[in-house]
Amino acid sequence: MEIKKVWIVEEDCSGDAICEDICPEVFEVNDIAKIKKGVDLDKYEEEIREAVEECPTECIKYEED
Ligand code: SF4
Repeated sequence: MEIKKVWIVEEDCSGDAICEDICPEVFEVNDIAKIKKGVDLDKYEEEIREAVEECPTECIKYEED
């Protein structure tokens, strides 16, 4: 299964930047987390999964196929 899309449920994001600490190549936090544009998600799949697990509000969502 490959991650095809990642997004943040912004209203649930606390802005603690844990995701950015884990994978700054994909996540950028200024008040709330955003997904950087044009990132090769395949390359950071492991880190994205870790960020999803570590996010305290479970607001990082992803789609895989
Ligand atoms: S870890 Fe979750 S709550 Fe924290 S900044 Fe990232 S997306 Fe938001």
